Amino acid sequence: MRAVDIIEKKRDGHELAHEEIEFFVNGYTRGDIPDYQAAAWCMAVLLRGMTPRETTDLALAMAHSGKVLDLRDVAPLVVDKHSSGGVGDKVSLVVAPVVAASGLPVGKMSGRGLAFSGGTLDKLESIRGYRTDLSEAEFHAQLKRIGIVLTGQSVDLAPADGKLYALRDVTGTVPSLPLIAASIMSKKIAGGADAIVLDVKTGSGAFMKTEADARALAGIMVDIGKMLDRRMVALISDMNQPLGRAVGNALELREAIETLHSHGPLDFTEHCLTVAAHMLRLGAKATSVEQGRALAESLIREGKAWQKFVALVRAQGGDVSQVEQPDRLPRASIVRDVPSPRGGAIARVDALEIGLTAVTLGAGRAKKGDPIDHAVGIEVEVKVGDRVEAGTPLFTIHANDERRWTEAARRLLDAVSISDTPVARLPLFYGTIE
Ligand code: URA
Repeated sequence: MRAVDIIEKKRDGHELAHEEIEFFVNGYTRGDIPDYQAAAWCMAVLLRGMTPRETTDLALAMAHSGKVLDLRDVAPLVVDKHSSGGVGDKVSLVVAPVVAASGLPVGKMSGRGLAFSGGTLDKLESIRGYRTDLSEAEFHAQLKRIGIVLTGQSVDLAPADGKLYALRDVTGTVPSLPLIAASIMSKKIAGGADAIVLDVKTGSGAFMKTEADARALAGIMVDIGKMLDRRMVALISDMNQPLGRAVGNALELREAIETLHSHGPLDFTEHCLTVAAHMLRLGAKATSVEQGRALAESLIREGKAWQKFVALVRAQGGDVSQVEQPDRLPRASIVRDVPSPRGGAIARVDALEIGLTAVTLGAGRAKKGDPIDHAVGIEVEVKVGDRVEAGTPLFTIHANDERRWTEAARRLLDAVSISDTPVARLPLFYGTIE
């Protein structure tokens, strides 16, 4: 078999055979197929799509590019969650310790920032020393010992996704339903969880712009999970405006810490409680979503979720003093508000524009392997439906250079629309797929 034939077959819109998908994934993982061929193949998949059978084969080939964890000795049920990616989406940082604090182990392989969307690993790496490359043995041992792991793909676990993810980020090949489905499900399968909650975003700051596309992505991922006997739930959630206030790595980590102390923004807290509630129900710690929500709330209120978060940071080598005193996390040198030019009702807070602006400040990558600036980002001070006066802060920009601050302020003013008539608030969720 030759990689170029497989690229051409997909370019011309044909269905790839199981063996061809395996050949490509294994060849790229080993380094036999170079980046330029993998990039061309990803673009062909993005433009031509894949059938459900090809998508499933791709997810399985990527999952089996490394080890697939067997966690039966850890607990009868291990849960996991994954988001399809959004702006200000720091949900895993809160939900994983909340659920783990109930006694239900959460072993999670997260991702890095992708295009305009942030990544849990980049946020966690704002903490000095925090390791995101646990081996299979370390993953297993830590999950058994403290019931929580938040790590990334490694040479052991879903290495194909590690490579493809970084390549897609910088080759315009992120927003492809089969590539996203396979990327997410390969990590979930390799991570060995029995029950998985998917948070599938829709809106300007999501990869799936319409609710119909988000439902299609959720549907195929739920089907792949069910085929492998995993308990699955997918939530369809709003990503037209950023979630919470903070966008940017250390800023988001700080907001997650505030939320674990019961002082988070209302929308973000509510979102986390809903995701946690579904995980607790799937993991049989609650008999209904309502009961799961109440349990999640009490685990935060009683400080148990916070203790679990601290245990996680310590176990993965992070500097605990930075999360106990978040002022010690990286801070930008320029922190200034952007005031509203006029009064009225906020009609649009464009998540995509805000995510892209955060990347230009240095919070994301332009090229594979680029370093990121953990300190920079944006605090979004308004939500759709809020009323503002002229001069009310719309954003607080955290930058490390004046030119970038000015450019960000210009872009952010274009990301907001203000109406003279009242505007309805946006929902957090649009539905659930079981
Ligand atoms: N999250 C992932 O893990 N992969 C994607 O492709 C998109 C979001």
